[in-house]
Amino acid sequence: MNESKKKYKGSPKGKEAEKRYNLSDKGHENRRRYNRSEKGKIICRKAAREFYQRHKEDPVYREKIRERNRKYGKSNKGRLTNKKAAKKFRKTPKGKMVNKNRKMKRRQLEGEGKITLGQWEELCKKHDFICHLCGKKIGGYRGNLGLEFPSMDHIIPLSKGGKHDISNVAPAHTKCNILRRDKSVEEFKKEHGYK
Ligand SMILES: [Zn+2]
Repeated sequence: MNESKKKYKGSPKGKEAEKRYNLSDKGHENRRRYNRSEKGKIICRKAAREFYQRHKEDPVYREKIRERNRKYGKSNKGRLTNKKAAKKFRKTPKGKMVNKNRKMKRRQLEGEGKITLGQWEELCKKHDFICHLCGKKIGGYRGNLGLEFPSMDHIIPLSKGGKHDISNVAPAHTKCNILRRDKSVEEFKKEHGYK
């Protein structure tokens, strides 16, 4: 670029012209072509990385990204990408470990006892479909090994060594079950003023 051209580009008039060009179809097309070239891709990636580094702490930006990822994950293309990524991850040492731990945990947690649907229905009837946490009736039961059952709450949480066994479960509202988490039944009742 020669001197006078450089000067023109830096001038308000030159900047104005550049802006106009960038907004024109030709400018768009040109930029697109550049962004897809090897050199353009590298620069784009670098700019994206820098942008991310500058904004990663910004909660608004983070929420935006999360929202975008959520949307993408729901699209057909996103589902496929995620599936592929998950498959790839499972083959890495870390992925193998995660998978193994998950399997072991499940086996440990559920392997010791097994609750049949019949047993569960019987227990729910024994409790008269009353939530063992809040003491109120649980709706949604359709009976006769029906479709909907109360949420199965582990009296001693699995995470605290409780067994997945009919002697360690009781019916509860899904909401109560979720609210309780790993707290003991007594703790939960006290906290919420239930008797
Ligand atoms: Zn409840």
